[in-house]
Amino acid sequence: MALKERLRTWKRLFCWLILLALGLLGLLQHGLSIVRHLETLIPMGVCPSARMALLRDNFTGLLNPWARPDVLTCTSWGAPIIWDSTFNPAVAQQKALQQNFTIGLTVFAVGRYLEKYLARFLETAEQHFMVGQRVVYYVFTERPAAVPRVALAPGRRLRVERVAREPRWQDVSMQRMRTLHEALGGRLGREAHFVLCMDVDQHFRGAFGPEVLAESVAQLHAWHYHWPRWLLPYERDVRSTAALALGEGDFYYHAAVFGGSVAALRGLTAHCARNLRRDRERGLEARWHDESHLNKFFWLHKPAKVLSPEFCWSPEIGRRAEIRQPRLLWAPKEYALLRD
Ligand code: UDP
Ligand code: MN
Repeated sequence: MALKERLRTWKRLFCWLILLALGLLGLLQHGLSIVRHLETLIPMGVCPSARMALLRDNFTGLLNPWARPDVLTCTSWGAPIIWDSTFNPAVAQQKALQQNFTIGLTVFAVGRYLEKYLARFLETAEQHFMVGQRVVYYVFTERPAAVPRVALAPGRRLRVERVAREPRWQDVSMQRMRTLHEALGGRLGREAHFVLCMDVDQHFRGAFGPEVLAESVAQLHAWHYHWPRWLLPYERDVRSTAALALGEGDFYYHAAVFGGSVAALRGLTAHCARNLRRDRERGLEARWHDESHLNKFFWLHKPAKVLSPEFCWSPEIGRRAEIRQPRLLWAPKEYALLRD
């Protein structure tokens, strides 16, 4: 009798646990803010101090990964993860000026994304993006005449490149890799030393300076940087060239910001454009389109620098102590308005 009773209790407890787990998962899926806050309890890991001492960066002078014991400040392959207080923006500024860099910023504004986002993106870039440096903006659009005229500080130029409008938004997004590859092989590649490639549906809120520069740069995705690896939304279909097996992948990177030297980005865009084409030829489309392929690329070719989520933050998540100074903020997703 007692055994039966105990079994029943265990069974009930087990059911409750399953329900709780399912409930949490469901809430997580729907991005409820309470659960999003619980997420910060999942530890990111810490950078071993022996590795901290070896971290090098050509753009920020000395890094100070010790300044942020609350977060992960380096990767397992020895690349710095750049958080507020781990670098000195004035030194980064000085180093970039000494080397007389021209920094490219590419952005696509096709269809309704142009009217909705481009003006604010460019206006806030003038306030916060590489202030004091030589900058060249490349705007890719199917309607060059509709690009807003934004007053630019001296030493900053805006170039508009015409692209065809793909009928599906997924194709607009994916086609960027091929277009960027061509631009990097042309004028953009000749006039810029480093290039940042960004989504347009966001705006700058804080200083986004040369501390982000490196041979190759990846952005931690604001939604996923605390998640265990097996939960990350990589492409899992082994038929896709973007597929990562369970146990593969380092972080989930956000395609809204990536960058690097012209040579490195030529390689990255070639890889992604080629694999996007191979998948399409076989009737496949990776789960998160170009972002899935970007994640595969950075798994195979580790980024030299990783940006903390404060460099591309989603205000929907709410305030978090570890996000001290958001530098780019996502716009609310209004797909019904923007996508056909
Ligand atoms: N984009 C565009 N027009 C479109 C679809 C996409 O200009 O119809 C560009 C734009 O720069 C946008 C990026 O491609 O920011 C990626 O698409 P989106 O931001 O909608 O993807 P998400 O960030 O929601 O994954
Ligand atoms: Mn976007």
